[in-house]
Amino acid sequence: MRLILLGPPGAGKGTQAKRLEDKYGFIQLSTGDMLRAAVAAGSDIGKQAETIMARGDLVPNEIVVGIIAERISQPDAAKGYILDGFPRNVPQAEALDAMLEGRGAKLDAVVELEVDDGILLQRIETRAAETVGGPRADDNAEALAKRLKVYHEQTAPLVAYYKGKGTLRSVDGMKDMDEVTRQIEAVLGLSNKKGNWLKRLTGKK
Ligand code: AMP
Repeated sequence: MRLILLGPPGAGKGTQAKRLEDKYGFIQLSTGDMLRAAVAAGSDIGKQAETIMARGDLVPNEIVVGIIAERISQPDAAKGYILDGFPRNVPQAEALDAMLEGRGAKLDAVVELEVDDGILLQRIETRAAETVGGPRADDNAEALAKRLKVYHEQTAPLVAYYKGKGTLRSVDGMKDMDEVTRQIEAVLGLSNKKGNWLKRLTGKK
Protein backbone atom coordinates (compact mmCIF):
# COMPACT_ATOMS: atom_id res chain seq x y z
CA MET A 1 0.00 0.00 0.00
CA ARG A 2 1.28 3.45 -0.92
CA LEU A 3 -0.22 6.07 1.24
CA ILE A 4 0.09 9.75 2.09
CA LEU A 5 -0.86 11.13 5.49
CA LEU A 6 -1.83 14.76 5.13
CA GLY A 7 -2.46 17.24 7.91
CA PRO A 8 -1.03 20.26 9.72
CA PRO A 9 1.91 20.02 12.14
CA GLY A 10 0.82 18.30 15.35
CA ALA A 11 -2.16 16.56 13.69
CA GLY A 12 -0.78 13.15 14.65
CA LYS A 13 0.61 12.04 11.27
CA GLY A 14 3.80 10.62 12.80
CA THR A 15 1.94 8.72 15.53
CA GLN A 16 -0.55 7.21 13.10
CA ALA A 17 2.13 6.34 10.53
CA LYS A 18 4.12 4.53 13.23
CA ARG A 19 1.05 2.55 14.26
CA LEU A 20 0.33 1.49 10.67
CA GLU A 21 3.98 0.55 10.27
CA ASP A 22 3.94 -1.63 13.40
CA LYS A 23 0.63 -3.27 12.50
CA TYR A 24 0.85 -3.75 8.75
CA GLY A 25 4.56 -3.41 7.92
CA PHE A 26 4.20 -0.44 5.55
CA ILE A 27 7.29 1.60 6.25
CA GLN A 28 6.94 5.16 7.51
CA LEU A 29 8.86 7.66 5.39
CA SER A 30 9.01 10.99 7.18
CA THR A 31 10.91 13.72 5.35
CA GLY A 32 11.05 15.64 8.65
CA ASP A 33 12.81 12.69 10.36
CA MET A 34 15.18 12.26 7.40
CA LEU A 35 16.05 15.96 7.42
CA ARG A 36 16.58 15.97 11.20
CA ALA A 37 18.92 12.98 10.78
CA ALA A 38 20.82 14.92 8.09
CA VAL A 39 21.10 17.92 10.43
CA ALA A 40 22.35 15.69 13.26
CA ALA A 41 24.89 14.05 10.94
CA GLY A 42 26.11 17.46 9.75
CA SER A 43 25.78 16.44 6.07
CA ASP A 44 25.59 19.00 3.24
CA ILE A 45 21.81 18.60 3.09
CA GLY A 46 21.63 18.96 6.85
CA LYS A 47 23.63 22.19 6.73
CA GLN A 48 21.34 23.60 4.05
CA ALA A 49 18.18 22.56 5.91
CA GLU A 50 18.99 23.45 9.52
CA THR A 51 18.11 27.14 9.73
CA ILE A 52 15.19 26.81 7.31
CA MET A 53 13.66 24.09 9.50
CA ALA A 54 14.30 25.96 12.75
CA ARG A 55 12.26 28.92 11.53
CA GLY A 56 9.43 26.71 10.23
CA ASP A 57 9.87 27.27 6.49
CA LEU A 58 9.93 24.59 3.79
CA VAL A 59 13.23 23.13 2.67
CA PRO A 60 13.68 23.55 -1.14
CA ASN A 61 11.68 21.10 -3.25
CA GLU A 62 14.69 19.65 -5.07
CA ILE A 63 16.21 18.54 -1.76
CA VAL A 64 13.13 16.73 -0.42
CA VAL A 65 12.14 15.31 -3.82
CA GLY A 66 15.68 13.93 -4.16
CA ILE A 67 15.54 12.38 -0.67
CA ILE A 68 12.20 10.69 -1.38
CA ALA A 69 13.19 9.48 -4.86
CA GLU A 70 16.24 7.83 -3.37
CA ARG A 71 14.35 6.32 -0.44
CA ILE A 72 11.44 4.78 -2.35
CA SER A 73 13.82 3.01 -4.70
CA GLN A 74 15.26 0.95 -1.83
CA PRO A 75 14.16 -2.68 -1.53
CA ASP A 76 12.28 -2.29 1.77
CA ALA A 77 9.94 0.24 0.11
CA ALA A 78 8.70 -2.35 -2.39
CA LYS A 79 6.03 -3.63 0.03
CA GLY A 80 4.54 -0.20 0.45
CA TYR A 81 5.07 2.94 2.45
CA ILE A 82 3.39 5.77 4.26
CA LEU A 83 4.57 9.23 3.33
CA ASP A 84 4.48 11.43 6.42
CA GLY A 85 5.22 15.11 5.72
CA PHE A 86 5.66 14.71 1.97
CA PRO A 87 4.41 16.15 -0.34
CA ARG A 88 4.11 19.60 1.24
CA ASN A 89 3.08 21.59 -1.86
CA VAL A 90 1.68 21.05 -5.36
CA PRO A 91 5.07 20.91 -7.15
CA GLN A 92 6.18 18.14 -4.74
CA ALA A 93 2.92 16.27 -5.41
CA GLU A 94 3.51 16.57 -9.15
CA ALA A 95 7.08 15.34 -8.73
CA LEU A 96 5.75 12.36 -6.76
CA ASP A 97 3.20 11.59 -9.49
CA ALA A 98 5.99 11.59 -12.07
CA MET A 99 8.20 9.39 -9.87
CA LEU A 100 5.44 6.84 -9.37
CA GLU A 101 4.44 6.88 -13.01
CA GLY A 102 8.06 6.23 -13.97
CA ARG A 103 7.96 3.10 -11.81
CA GLY A 104 4.54 1.95 -13.02
CA ALA A 105 3.18 2.45 -9.51
CA LYS A 106 0.35 4.52 -8.10
CA LEU A 107 -0.91 5.89 -4.82
CA ASP A 108 -3.58 3.87 -3.06
CA ALA A 109 -4.90 6.73 -0.95
CA VAL A 110 -4.28 10.10 0.64
CA VAL A 111 -5.62 10.30 4.18
CA GLU A 112 -6.28 13.76 5.53
CA LEU A 113 -6.27 14.22 9.31
CA GLU A 114 -8.70 17.05 9.94
CA VAL A 115 -7.67 19.03 13.01
CA ASP A 116 -8.72 22.32 14.51
CA ASP A 117 -5.85 24.85 14.48
CA GLY A 118 -6.71 25.97 18.00
CA ILE A 119 -5.63 22.74 19.69
CA LEU A 120 -2.42 22.27 17.72
CA LEU A 121 -0.30 24.65 19.77
CA GLN A 122 -1.34 22.80 22.92
CA ARG A 123 -0.39 19.43 21.36
CA ILE A 124 2.98 20.72 20.19
CA GLU A 125 3.72 22.17 23.62
CA THR A 126 2.93 18.79 25.22
CA ARG A 127 5.17 17.04 22.68
CA ALA A 128 7.99 19.52 23.37
CA ALA A 129 7.71 18.91 27.12
CA GLU A 130 7.69 15.12 26.72
CA THR A 131 10.51 14.76 24.17
CA VAL A 132 13.52 13.00 25.65
CA GLY A 133 16.67 15.05 25.03
CA GLY A 134 14.74 18.31 24.79
CA PRO A 135 12.24 19.74 22.33
CA ARG A 136 12.75 19.91 18.56
CA ALA A 137 14.28 23.19 17.39
CA ASP A 138 10.97 24.06 15.67
CA ASP A 139 8.64 23.13 18.57
CA ASN A 140 8.14 26.66 19.87
CA ALA A 141 5.28 29.12 19.49
CA GLU A 142 6.93 31.28 16.85
CA ALA A 143 8.06 28.44 14.59
CA LEU A 144 4.72 26.67 15.02
CA ALA A 145 2.81 29.76 13.94
CA LYS A 146 5.04 29.86 10.86
CA ARG A 147 4.56 26.13 10.17
CA LEU A 148 0.78 26.52 10.40
CA LYS A 149 0.85 29.50 8.04
CA VAL A 150 3.01 27.55 5.58
CA TYR A 151 0.62 24.60 5.89
CA HIS A 152 -2.43 26.68 5.03
CA GLU A 153 -0.73 28.52 2.19
CA GLN A 154 1.22 25.70 0.56
CA THR A 155 0.10 22.29 1.80
CA ALA A 156 -3.68 22.68 2.23
CA PRO A 157 -4.15 23.08 -1.57
CA LEU A 158 -3.19 19.39 -1.77
CA VAL A 159 -6.63 18.53 -0.35
CA ALA A 160 -8.24 19.84 -3.56
CA TYR A 161 -5.43 18.35 -5.65
CA TYR A 162 -6.05 14.81 -4.39
CA LYS A 163 -9.82 15.26 -4.19
CA GLY A 164 -9.66 15.96 -7.91
CA LYS A 165 -7.81 12.69 -8.42
CA GLY A 166 -10.37 10.78 -6.33
CA THR A 167 -7.75 9.53 -3.84
CA LEU A 168 -8.58 11.74 -0.84
CA ARG A 169 -10.09 10.22 2.33
CA SER A 170 -10.70 12.39 5.40
CA VAL A 171 -10.76 11.34 9.05
CA ASP A 172 -11.44 13.29 12.22
CA GLY A 173 -8.01 13.97 13.72
CA MET A 174 -9.57 15.50 16.85
CA LYS A 175 -10.64 12.11 18.20
CA ASP A 176 -8.40 10.09 20.51
CA MET A 177 -5.49 8.24 18.92
CA ASP A 178 -7.14 4.79 18.91
CA GLU A 179 -10.28 6.14 17.27
CA VAL A 180 -8.24 7.96 14.62
CA THR A 181 -6.39 4.69 13.89
CA ARG A 182 -9.74 2.88 13.57
CA GLN A 183 -11.05 5.54 11.19
CA ILE A 184 -7.92 5.33 9.05
CA GLU A 185 -8.20 1.54 8.90
CA ALA A 186 -11.85 1.87 7.94
CA VAL A 187 -11.27 4.32 5.07
CA LEU A 188 -8.42 2.14 3.80
CA GLY A 189 -10.49 -1.04 4.06
CA LEU A 190 -7.98 -2.46 6.56
CA SER A 191 -10.52 -3.16 9.32
CA ASN A 192 -10.13 -6.58 10.81
CA LYS A 193 -13.05 -8.27 9.07
CA LYS A 194 -12.39 -11.65 10.67
CA GLY A 195 -12.28 -10.01 14.09
CA ASN A 196 -15.55 -8.20 13.47
CA TRP A 197 -17.20 -11.42 12.36
CA LEU A 198 -16.02 -13.17 15.53
CA LYS A 199 -17.26 -10.30 17.66
CA ARG A 200 -20.70 -10.49 16.05
CA LEU A 201 -20.81 -14.24 16.59
CA THR A 202 -19.78 -14.12 20.23
CA GLY A 203 -21.64 -10.90 20.97
CA LYS A 204 -18.42 -9.45 22.43
CA LYS A 205 -17.80 -5.74 22.12
P1 AMP B 1 7.89 17.63 10.08
O1 AMP B 1 8.67 16.73 10.98
O2 AMP B 1 7.16 16.88 8.99
O3 AMP B 1 6.98 18.56 10.84
O4 AMP B 1 8.95 18.55 9.32
C1 AMP B 1 9.80 19.42 10.03
C2 AMP B 1 10.38 20.44 9.08
O5 AMP B 1 11.17 19.79 8.07
C3 AMP B 1 9.37 21.27 8.31
O6 AMP B 1 8.88 22.37 9.04
C4 AMP B 1 10.20 21.70 7.10
O7 AMP B 1 11.12 22.71 7.44
C5 AMP B 1 11.02 20.44 6.82
N1 AMP B 1 10.30 19.53 5.91
C6 AMP B 1 9.81 18.29 6.18
N2 AMP B 1 9.22 17.75 5.11
C7 AMP B 1 9.33 18.68 4.11
C8 AMP B 1 8.88 18.73 2.78
N3 AMP B 1 8.20 17.70 2.20
N4 AMP B 1 9.18 19.85 2.05
C9 AMP B 1 9.86 20.87 2.58
N5 AMP B 1 10.28 20.90 3.85
C10 AMP B 1 10.03 19.81 4.62
